[in-house]
Amino acid sequence: MTDEEVRAVAPGRVVLIGDHTDYVGGLVLPMAIDLSTEVRGRRTGGHVELSSAQLDGVARFEVPVTDPTSVTPGWARYVAGVAAVIGARTGLVGTVDSSVPPGGGLSSSAALELAVALALGAPEDDPVELARRCRSAEETATGVPCGIMDQLCCAAGVEGHALLIDCSTETHRTVPVPEELEVWVVDSGQPRQLSESPYAERRREAEAAAALLGHLPDVPLEAIEELPDDRLRRRARHVRTECDRVERLAAALDRGDLDEVGALLSASHRSLRDDAEVSTPVLDALVADVEARPGVLGARLTGAGFGGSVVVLARSGARLDDVGAGARRVRPSAGARTS
Ligand code: ADP
Ligand code: MG
Repeated sequence: MTDEEVRAVAPGRVVLIGDHTDYVGGLVLPMAIDLSTEVRGRRTGGHVELSSAQLDGVARFEVPVTDPTSVTPGWARYVAGVAAVIGARTGLVGTVDSSVPPGGGLSSSAALELAVALALGAPEDDPVELARRCRSAEETATGVPCGIMDQLCCAAGVEGHALLIDCSTETHRTVPVPEELEVWVVDSGQPRQLSESPYAERRREAEAAAALLGHLPDVPLEAIEELPDDRLRRRARHVRTECDRVERLAAALDRGDLDEVGALLSASHRSLRDDAEVSTPVLDALVADVEARPGVLGARLTGAGFGGSVVVLARSGARLDDVGAGARRVRPSAGARTS
């Protein structure tokens, strides 16, 4: 197929609950949002040439791509990584445009990967397979292992729903987000310190705890409490209790019952602060500020932590426009698609 006009769109996502659980095969509850990345162009010839409305430079390389890691600029590696994993043989000349802020914790990278994959002709009918490939493209592009959550949420999102994902089996199911529940993302104004170190360290510690105790989401709390090493005990306790909270929030949303939502979000933030140790004083103050506002059910840091954003669940009509460094309401949206 040549000279075919294509347009593919993929959403960003926000994690409602379930952070620092994915890399040890835990549960997560992200939601695809109404901010998205669009790739538009013409499928033709033997090379890819994409410019971005957000970032400088052009992603330009031949297909089939031989070494995606040598492509420049940096963002073009995601594009080349995707072309490599889907085995693209027909080129694409076009543009990338996005309302997902790059590096803002709303998974602009997965949105880019999914939109590029579909624009390059990857089959749309199997979101799990598509997500696996895009995850592998991200690992190629960044050189860092990542979980399946972002790509699976972007691929398999369903309008009006969040997605409960079991990261150990890579299985998922939809969870309805009640009409009267508002989801807000508040920028803390504190850039995520993306030095790999604290994140990689947390990951290593959780993995070390799992090596001693087994699959952390299933380990009884009593066994975790007996672990002599205080640090590993707290990391394990975070995973175990956070997975319980993910299940409980999913069940509450299934029932359309908002009463329990606030307590679960607050407990999640406390666990991320005290047991996972990934919060900051700025995030803690922002959560406290937001939680004191009328209509707010609960708030927690979302994503990797060490700065970044807070997710807020509120009843209709909560006033949050003036909090943090900027707040926006996001809506549960559909996954990646061509049109
Ligand atoms: P997040 O996924 O949380 O937004 P990441 O650091 O994982 O943050 O991914 C951000 C990277 O993804 C950017 O640095 C860039 O390389 C790439 N990217 C995201 N959006 C775009 C875009 N619109 N145009 C070009 N590259 C993008
Ligand atoms: Mg990302």
